[in-house]
Amino acid sequence: MHYIDMHAHMVSRTTDDYERMALAGCKVVTEPAFWAGFDRRSADAFADYFYELISFEPKRAARFGIQHYTWLCLNPKEGEDRGMARSVLPMIPPLLDQPTVLGIGEIGLNRVTRNELATFRDHVDMAMNHNQMILIHTPHLEDKYKGTRVIVDTLVADGRVDRNRVIIDHVEEHTVDMVVSEGFWAGITLYPTTKCSPARAIDIIEMYGDERIYAASACDWGRSAPLAVPRFIMEMRRRGHDETFIKKIVYDNPAQFLRQNSKFHEPADRISVALNA
Ligand SMILES: [Zn+2]
Repeated sequence: MHYIDMHAHMVSRTTDDYERMALAGCKVVTEPAFWAGFDRRSADAFADYFYELISFEPKRAARFGIQHYTWLCLNPKEGEDRGMARSVLPMIPPLLDQPTVLGIGEIGLNRVTRNELATFRDHVDMAMNHNQMILIHTPHLEDKYKGTRVIVDTLVADGRVDRNRVIIDHVEEHTVDMVVSEGFWAGITLYPTTKCSPARAIDIIEMYGDERIYAASACDWGRSAPLAVPRFIMEMRRRGHDETFIKKIVYDNPAQFLRQNSKFHEPADRISVALNA
């Protein structure tokens, strides 16, 4: 079955991972900008990072017939540094016309501090001023409910935001309802040992429905699984879900979201098309 991985930090992964994902049916990845595991020591590091996301990764992915798109921002963790935010944010608007840049992300909150919220608001302003889609990171563990609530309330109070063009990611049982009921898209991110497992993700979908929701690998530099979505598909089949329903979660829903962006191209079946693109 073909699938779209909406959240994969491929800069942290090997070329072999791209091949394995392609063999498992991956046709599209979207890669949000995020924290590299350490705080960058200068704003210049972000210029190189954005260049890597825009220039290198699409070529690496295309070798295996995978389309690579990206989202740009200063991630929520380093967004705590307001000085860094003032240096990095102006780098982003000139890159928004690049053909594989989908929008602003993954912005959001980490520890739900005043500084993080200020940087989050700066990014939302940027997205609105440039008519961009948004992908949002929500905090993990004990900060998740509070952080998701603050994010949802901030966006709902902002009359400029078209909620159908916003993904709120890393939802769990206690946050999915506030995201979907307010008209946003909900991303479930899958992890091999911590946080949300494939089985738990399916429980959430069985309970809350299949509209405006999808599952992604969230693979990055930490312990994570580039093949989390195929494992999720396998678990869905084991539970007896039919192919149409599974495809809705892993392909049709992400594609429906992405079609709102004119930069998105429907994936071709033949690898040669991608190679020649
Ligand atoms: Zn991420």
